[in-house]
Amino acid sequence: MQATADLSPPVVSVIVPVYNEEDVLPALFDRLYPALDALGEGYEVIFVNDGSRDRSAQLLAQQFHRRPDVTRVVLFNGNFGQHMAIMAGFERVRGQMAITLDADLQNPPEEIARLVAAVRAGHDYVGTVRRQRSDTAFRRVASRLMNALRERITRIQMTDQGCMLRAYDRALVDTLNACGEVNTFIPALAYTFAATPTEIEVDHEERHAGQSKYSLYRLIRLNFDLVTGFSIVPLQWFSLIGMLLALGAGALFVLLVVRRFLLGAEVEGVFTLFALQFFLTGIMLFGFGLMGEYVGRIQQEVRRRPRYRISAVLEAQPAPAPAPAARVSA
Ligand code: UDP
Ligand code: MG
Repeated sequence: MQATADLSPPVVSVIVPVYNEEDVLPALFDRLYPALDALGEGYEVIFVNDGSRDRSAQLLAQQFHRRPDVTRVVLFNGNFGQHMAIMAGFERVRGQMAITLDADLQNPPEEIARLVAAVRAGHDYVGTVRRQRSDTAFRRVASRLMNALRERITRIQMTDQGCMLRAYDRALVDTLNACGEVNTFIPALAYTFAATPTEIEVDHEERHAGQSKYSLYRLIRLNFDLVTGFSIVPLQWFSLIGMLLALGAGALFVLLVVRRFLLGAEVEGVFTLFALQFFLTGIMLFGFGLMGEYVGRIQQEVRRRPRYRISAVLEAQPAPAPAPAARVSA
């Protein structure tokens, strides 16, 4: 198949991060492309393979050869995480808007038309809320708690932070590209810059095939990144707690000294003191940990290392030169 002569930039750029999704990719191709063809707009799909260890990369290459006019594939040479994969896609967006989508078909591709309509209506950021979540009860409860906490701490209003089916207009994408942050949560970063954000309800399905890439540990890490990356309120809370405790401890000390002189030495209450000490030690350790989160972030930012490494990009020749249909650039 020859790359089409139509070199006008697409309107919609769809970005799909892919990590070990060989089981679901064929079904994704079967639903995503018809849904996009039905849009009646020029589009491109940018798949970013996040260092999959299965056959995902081959499947993506096959799909590229099937639809080279509208498909681009970025291949990472390692696993840099879902959000870095999306950033790599953002840096290549040619459309007037970008739409992010999970590969596992939990976000129905048929909903893309409604996101496009919302951007057309003047919203620079379109978030989504899953109509009925098809996740385990544990994931549902955990994410509700996290949402409440995040909203208090960071002022980022996102009814459903877990749903990655979202639309961003081009100007917003360019702003995100200029940020260059290392550990970031893209919807939250976009929200902080958005002028006219909105949210729409979308359907949610069970993961079509394969397994979730997020263990409990990775979810906790992600939420730490989300909170510490967007707010220093936890540190401020901490100094407040520290101040109150220091005042309390000071008062206790005065009381003990006065009692020592009024009543003489006493050993009763030693265990209460121990309990108090352990409590304080616990809080101190938590505080160190929290400081560490921020120091760690600072360290990552000052290193200024490249955020990811690309081993190859599959895309049709963008220049109107009489060249082979496909080109592999390193
Ligand atoms: N993903 C990725 N790199 C990773 C983990 C996940 O690119 O290190 C992709 C994955 O292929 C999928 C999306 O991010 O397209 C969301 O992952 P998953 O469905 O496993 O997350 P969940 O829906 O369980 O939150
Ligand atoms: Mg999923």
